[in-house]
Amino acid sequence: MPMFEYVCRACGERFEELRSLDPDQPAPVCPECGSGQVVKLFSSFASLSPGSPSTPKGSGRSSCGGSGRFT
Ligand SMILES: [Zn+2]
Repeated sequence: MPMFEYVCRACGERFEELRSLDPDQPAPVCPECGSGQVVKLFSSFASLSPGSPSTPKGSGRSSCGGSGRFT
């Protein structure tokens, strides 16, 4: 089971938890204050960019190749 690192947004506590990879597993709660507002810390790089722009590639390009544009 992998170990994940979390930080509590309520009190700032950092803790580690062994989690399974089950996506249905509920998020952990802070062992310090019991808050459920914890953020998973990925291996020390993903937390540097809050609110990264979501740019789906390949989608939303429907300008050409439409339906019945040939005359
Ligand atoms: Zn906390």
